[in-house]
Amino acid sequence: MEFDGTFTRGWIQRFADSVSATEPELTALDQRAGDGDFGTNLRTGLTLAVKELHSLPTGPLPAAAPLEATARAFLDGVGGTSGPLFGLLFQELSAAVAEAGPVLRVTALSAGTAAGLAAVQRVGEAVPGDKTLVDALAPAARELQRFAPAGRPDRALAAAARGSWQGVQSTTLLRAHRGRASYLGERASGVPDPGAVGVALLFTTANAHVSSLSSRLAGPDSDPGREQAPL
Ligand code: ADP
Ligand code: MG
Repeated sequence: MEFDGTFTRGWIQRFADSVSATEPELTALDQRAGDGDFGTNLRTGLTLAVKELHSLPTGPLPAAAPLEATARAFLDGVGGTSGPLFGLLFQELSAAVAEAGPVLRVTALSAGTAAGLAAVQRVGEAVPGDKTLVDALAPAARELQRFAPAGRPDRALAAAARGSWQGVQSTTLLRAHRGRASYLGERASGVPDPGAVGVALLFTTANAHVSSLSSRLAGPDSDPGREQAPL
């Protein structure tokens, strides 16, 4: 498989389709641990991103182009707390991927995710354990950094996805210290953080369509990696 713009275009399209399919579940999570608009915010960004993808040239594309288009869509068109944060993540990812050349490389995914995490933390000031999307992004960055630099990008992204679902599980038990969920105190305990789920969906959809969150949120005994497409 060639990891050029065809791969990243498919990834963003699959992320968009998976968020559409799971929007009611994302909304329900943010109703319990926020104000209920997270699913809509994420879906709005991805609808705009897919529109931008359609305006890209149909021929061979550098891997960064679909990620850049997604960054623009989130930064220009999405409100809420999560819209600009996802925009920053895509901006850093696309910059690192562009710098590494036309083809996706594990080193660029790792550098871009680490830079995205740093940007999110600079702006949002959340640390791991605050029950935010940082709790899924930090383990994804760690897995990518551990992955063999010359390895396959799709396998590295699958490892990042497994790390981020573990991060999602960890948020279930936490009490929020940032964002709207922090106003709910103990009431948001027992609910996984919606933004963290969004990050886990991002990494998972590099390889697989997700049509339902229920099995992935079923608790610590479930194996969130089991629906991963065989690589
Ligand atoms: P809002 O809370 O403004 O309605 P969204 O519903 O779009 O924003 O997004 C909620 C998600 O944003 C939360 O689930 C959490 O993951 C993330 N979030 C909130 N505050 C922060 C922060 N300070 N740093 C990182 N992520 C945050
Ligand atoms: Mg919200």
